[in-house]
Amino acid sequence: MASYPPALLDEIRAGVDVVELIGRFVNLRKAGQNYKGLCPFHGEKTPSFMVNPRKGIFHCFGCGVGGDAFGFLMRQDRLSFPEAVRALARQAGVALPEDRGPRPGESGREELYRVMELAAAFYSERLWSAGGERARAYLDERGIAPETARRFGLGWAPEGWETLPDALRSSGVGDDTMLAAGLRIARDNRPGAYDRFRGRLLFPIRDLQGRVVALGGRAFGDEQPKYLNSPETPLYTKGHLLYAADLARETIRERHRALIVEGYVDCLMAHQHGFTETVAALGTAFTAAQLGVLRRYCDEVVTFFDADAAGQKAAERAEELLEPSAGGLAWGVNRAGAFEASGALRVKVALLPVGHDPDTFLRAEGAAAFTERIASARSLLAYALDRAVTEGSGGGARGRINAFARVALMLAKVGDAEEATALAREAALKLGADPTQLWIEAQRLQAALRRPTTVAGTATSTPAPSVVERDLVGLLLASREARRTLVPLLDPGDVTHAGLRDIVETLVRFPELGAEQLMSELASDHARHTLAALLVDERPLADEPVVVEQFRRRLERARTVGRLRSVSQAVAEGQQRASSATPMDATLGAELQRQGAVLHELVGGVVPSLKVVEARPDPSGS
Ligand SMILES: [Zn+2]
Repeated sequence: MASYPPALLDEIRAGVDVVELIGRFVNLRKAGQNYKGLCPFHGEKTPSFMVNPRKGIFHCFGCGVGGDAFGFLMRQDRLSFPEAVRALARQAGVALPEDRGPRPGESGREELYRVMELAAAFYSERLWSAGGERARAYLDERGIAPETARRFGLGWAPEGWETLPDALRSSGVGDDTMLAAGLRIARDNRPGAYDRFRGRLLFPIRDLQGRVVALGGRAFGDEQPKYLNSPETPLYTKGHLLYAADLARETIRERHRALIVEGYVDCLMAHQHGFTETVAALGTAFTAAQLGVLRRYCDEVVTFFDADAAGQKAAERAEELLEPSAGGLAWGVNRAGAFEASGALRVKVALLPVGHDPDTFLRAEGAAAFTERIASARSLLAYALDRAVTEGSGGGARGRINAFARVALMLAKVGDAEEATALAREAALKLGADPTQLWIEAQRLQAALRRPTTVAGTATSTPAPSVVERDLVGLLLASREARRTLVPLLDPGDVTHAGLRDIVETLVRFPELGAEQLMSELASDHARHTLAALLVDERPLADEPVVVEQFRRRLERARTVGRLRSVSQAVAEGQQRASSATPMDATLGAELQRQGAVLHELVGGVVPSLKVVEARPDPSGS
């Protein structure tokens, strides 16, 4: 996989702080020599994702993924290896002996990032120059301060069908790339394309690293649609990103809380009023994937509903979020439990007066009133349960039975048992039902829900290596002396664990490379994950020469046994052939004698594997 000299990759690694890099995506806490956090690559409630800053590697004990900074970026941003190298080289300020641009076999994502950045810069420049008056007047009318607009990189797409290509042509951007980035639309039935965004205020949508991946366009007047967004592209998947997550992340981490609103303007207004932990869901509902992102940084999410719509919306959200998700994000909606204890993200609802959204409320009532609303937020689940109870109580006996069933089903999906029992008590009281009965029904449903997920969960695990193999390879990685002594005795084919075998093969090929350098030479992801696991699991080497000597003896013994086995087999086969060959072939006889002598030397007279042959009729016939 490596086409770069190891020294160059080393230089880049040295210039990248892996904790800082991974910390942009994962909330990391110090734990001994390592940093720990929730794995971004699989759903988990307790952190098993480790980063070792000294070795520059990460490893997840939950899903087994691991690697170095390059590997992390490749997985996180779905980059090819050369793309990851270039991205980190830029960050580390290391010059690469090549020009930029995608090559055959690369994803072209880098070029898409570049085009989106250029387009966003162009549109932003238009907003603040002549021709942008109408857009600036609109900002003023909506109460969006120029500093806020600049901070969010807002732009203005002028009227016209060919504005963008005219602007980007000098930067060498091809038509195909603009199409692929969703900035242009291909014409129906005839060649050519036209600008997607025309006469709109633009909101750049950035990923967690602050790179523009999509644009949202708002019309000023009655033009339809009111909001026009980028389509899904290789950079942008709807429902995965949160608007302003890059700007809000630091505050979310500091305040252990995220505010989640619906629209761009709600989000801008919240930031403008000091609520810089605010993100927008880019749609009417937030998704489990979006909450998964937030859960890496905080333990509480507050969302806002108009008092009229709260019950309805909370019930809808709760039902969506309580559905087991495909990615196995086993998260629970929690009312009060702390993050560390329960692992769940608390999703709360703050009520706004009828007819208000965060934008209008902040402008009418100000930051202090908004803070009060946040402080009195209640659990999303409590709203949803209330709703089920109220709807049921209107419908007589049948309604109550329905409500009982809905509440039980909701409770069944709550991950935290303590939380679920408390809610069951509350709901039973309101339903006029027996809490024990409600709880039993929830448990029954939970058992039924759980069955398919446990089966799916076991299929992904890979077999762990044996302790001896793991320790041996760990030793080879840690000690030069061990490599000098032991590598010549090793046959990689004897290593049973595939990941370790790949590491040993690579060590045989590159005996001089350091443990971290091996990462980019390994042939498979499995091997990289295994290497990361070995490196992160740092144990002090007891008495190096003694351990090396132990392994040397063990390997020599294994070699002898292996040789013994193959020679015995040759002798046995030879004897068989000799028994069927008449008359006895002279060369075969001589070979048999020679092998027999080797065997005798190796084992000193005891030849166990020949017993099989001895049981057969004596080939000499005597
Ligand atoms: Zn993981």
